[in-house]
Amino acid sequence: MLNDPHSHGLWEISAPAAPQTSSLTASLTADVIIVGGGFTGCSAALHLAENGVKAVVLEAVEVGYGGAGRNVGLVNAGMWVMPSDLTRTLGTDYGQRLLTALGDGPQYVYGVINKYGIPCEAEPVGTLHCAVGQKGLEELQQREAEWQGLGAPVVLLNASDAAAKLGTSVYTGALWDKRAGTIQPLAYVRGLAKAALAAGARIFTGTPVLAVERSGNGWTARTANGSVTAPWVVMASDAYTRMDGPWPALRQEQVHLPYFNCATRPLSAEQLAGILPERQGCWDTRSVLHSYRLDHAGRMVIGSVGSFAGTGHAVHRAWAKRALAAIYPSLANVEFEAEWYGKIGLTADNLPRFHRLAENVISFSGYNGRGISPGTVFGREIADHILGRKGAEDLPLPLTDPHDAKWQKAQEAFYSLGAQVSHLMPVTF
Ligand SMILES: Cc1cc2nc3c(=O)[nH]c(=O)nc-3n(C[C@H](O)[C@H](O)[C@H](O)COP(=O)(O)OP(=O)(O)OC[C@H]3O[C@@H](n4cnc5c(N)ncnc54)[C@H](O)[C@@H]3O)c2cc1C
Repeated sequence: MLNDPHSHGLWEISAPAAPQTSSLTASLTADVIIVGGGFTGCSAALHLAENGVKAVVLEAVEVGYGGAGRNVGLVNAGMWVMPSDLTRTLGTDYGQRLLTALGDGPQYVYGVINKYGIPCEAEPVGTLHCAVGQKGLEELQQREAEWQGLGAPVVLLNASDAAAKLGTSVYTGALWDKRAGTIQPLAYVRGLAKAALAAGARIFTGTPVLAVERSGNGWTARTANGSVTAPWVVMASDAYTRMDGPWPALRQEQVHLPYFNCATRPLSAEQLAGILPERQGCWDTRSVLHSYRLDHAGRMVIGSVGSFAGTGHAVHRAWAKRALAAIYPSLANVEFEAEWYGKIGLTADNLPRFHRLAENVISFSGYNGRGISPGTVFGREIADHILGRKGAEDLPLPLTDPHDAKWQKAQEAFYSLGAQVSHLMPVTF
């Protein structure tokens, strides 16, 4: 997008065309203004429009421009933190509610994909969280015990069973979460947008919201060449919240973690032999984690923490080649066809946030690298709240105020630089 091959990489190459949209050049009225055309904004628009609510999405660039069009495509059933951390941080009521909402998230996502016939390479075959060393295995043993205690279909595979599923024996085990899977993320968010348009929502792209101002009992969103006035505003801009737009506090409460992906060209049947035969999406237990998965055409997509800005591109690209060779020696000499990166919005406790930024102005954000299921599910919850079906206290997250992240710039520099240092080291398991 924006003639930048490093913004959306493979997903832009293989996604169906974006829906036909244009920028806003008029003054409109609506019931709900949604700022941001990612999973959260498009899901909210779809669920609102299906219920007869006039929803207008204003997207600064293009549908899926933010994390939605750049991510790995792992449809996860929870957050990074241990399930017990959710109840410890949020209390039993909200913790259990969030665990249920996120645990059921992948099933909901794949249900939406089926319902609207979204062509997005959906593979509901589970994910494999791969253990590095004894420490990694112990972490996964705890995860298995916690999830199984909640009745979730999550199984810890021993090293040899994991090797059979992965096609590599570098890991000491793997946690197979059967609820999860993969998708082509840009294709999915474009499909959500098309479904929302078909249901009656309006989507304007190339339309950054410059300000949201009080207007009678409602709000007016001002853009360069138009405006929308409505009683409700939903901020769905997460890690791509603009400092020159409304409520930059949503950006200020996050620390951005850069994450990149490299995709090979489609691999031959011989190259693919034994590699991820069931096509689960994978990531590992290290703190500078790596992830990998196949797309439908048989490309291997490998990624990790790091930005392609400056020297980052050469360092991380070289690491990706070495890591791929270490995990799958048969892929040692395969060229990359696409390379891209984006920013993940982290919160202080690694949990998402629900804010009321002003009267009838709400936001869901801070997905900490897990936005496909939460964004889709919270979009539905936003609609239920605006429709009056659920009060703020009935949603899966407590209502909080945004607080500026501590040492934001220092933490961001640390992650960016630390990833480069880590990726200059030899790849070992
Ligand atoms: C590299 C990477 C890998 C990831 N991997 C995964 C994964 O495997 N699985 C997973 O579940 N999640 C993953 N994530 C996280 C996930 O992509 C995000 O959590 C998700 O995209 C958040 O969805 P959203 O709709 O809330 O925000 P976004 O998708 O970021 O969309 C926000 C949109 O708001 C727009 N916007 C911002 N400000 C304005 C304004 N003023 N006016 C108009 N529009 C505005 C932006 O242009 C953007 O399009 C990853 C993220 C990245 C970057």
